[in-house]
Amino acid sequence: MSARLLEGGPVAARIKQSVVDKLMGIPLGRRPKLTAVLVGDDPGAKFYARSQAKGCEEVSLRYELVELPADISEGDLVLKLRELNNDDDVTGIILMMPVPEHIDGRAMQGLIDPLKDVDGVHPVNLGHVVQGKMDLAPCTAQAIIELLDEAEVDYYGAEVVIVGHSEIVGKPTALLLLDRFATTTVCHIGTSDKGMLAHHTREADILIVAVGVAGLITKEHIKPGAIVIDVGTNRQKDPETGKTRIVGDVVAADAMEVAGMVTPVPGGVGVVTSAILLRNLVTCAELQGKV
Ligand code: NAP
Repeated sequence: MSARLLEGGPVAARIKQSVVDKLMGIPLGRRPKLTAVLVGDDPGAKFYARSQAKGCEEVSLRYELVELPADISEGDLVLKLRELNNDDDVTGIILMMPVPEHIDGRAMQGLIDPLKDVDGVHPVNLGHVVQGKMDLAPCTAQAIIELLDEAEVDYYGAEVVIVGHSEIVGKPTALLLLDRFATTTVCHIGTSDKGMLAHHTREADILIVAVGVAGLITKEHIKPGAIVIDVGTNRQKDPETGKTRIVGDVVAADAMEVAGMVTPVPGGVGVVTSAILLRNLVTCAELQGKV
């Protein structure tokens, strides 16, 4: 059996087109603006900021990167976030993670105006997810749903297993799936430590993996014919070329052999997540009555 690839590209293109269509006729200077706040110089956060800027440029959204020194005090960061909250020209705010250790990133995210919370991480927006509203749900959780919709999944009563229970991926995805009447199981480190991971994942019609451990999921974890959504993004050195490459949490060759459909890494969840960020910015503008 050879699985079909569930590519993110076409889904991302459709989402970006919806952004372009919504903003048709609005001059560039009046278009929504995403302001990213980068504290320090984490290379991963910088890379992500560059790709955000590129994504915004592609669909003619405005983008601004506010770079703050790594030793900024939490108090000064609070002031900066308040200033951005009050700035009518700023439509969406994203605090780039990770922040330096002396700063409580989650607390700072909670200070962003929920209507400008383009990342969907404010407790108010997470609360909306509990109520089944997807407007400003975390980008990756929305991306997973978009990919499953693309695969024309019948959610009703489907056995879904999510590996990973983070606040931005596992938990909100589980809630969005519950709302679609999937039978949802969430596995985490405790499941693995008890040696029960494969026991659960093997039952999954839809297996979603968001852990950050390359190769965690192998053939023995996958039900034949299942849909596998690999969220993991891990940097790995290719033993042959010595070059760094991005791999998922799922052994791709195993998934291709056993599953029915698999998202590639890269080119799956990540590209859709980037497109959702742009759509969320437009949603922020709509919620603020700006478009
Ligand atoms: P996270 O906050 O570190 O969460 C990882 C989760 O995996 C935690 O719930 C953790 O449980 C659990 N876990 C750790 N080891 C495990 C194991 N051996 N077996 C089962 N569960 C285990 O990470 P995240 O932000 O959700 O991201 C997860 C991965 O997705 C990362 O590779 C990240 O780079 C990637 N990601 C990709 C995108 C994208 O757009 N493609 C977006 C977001 C994240 P405990 O907390 O209990 O230890």
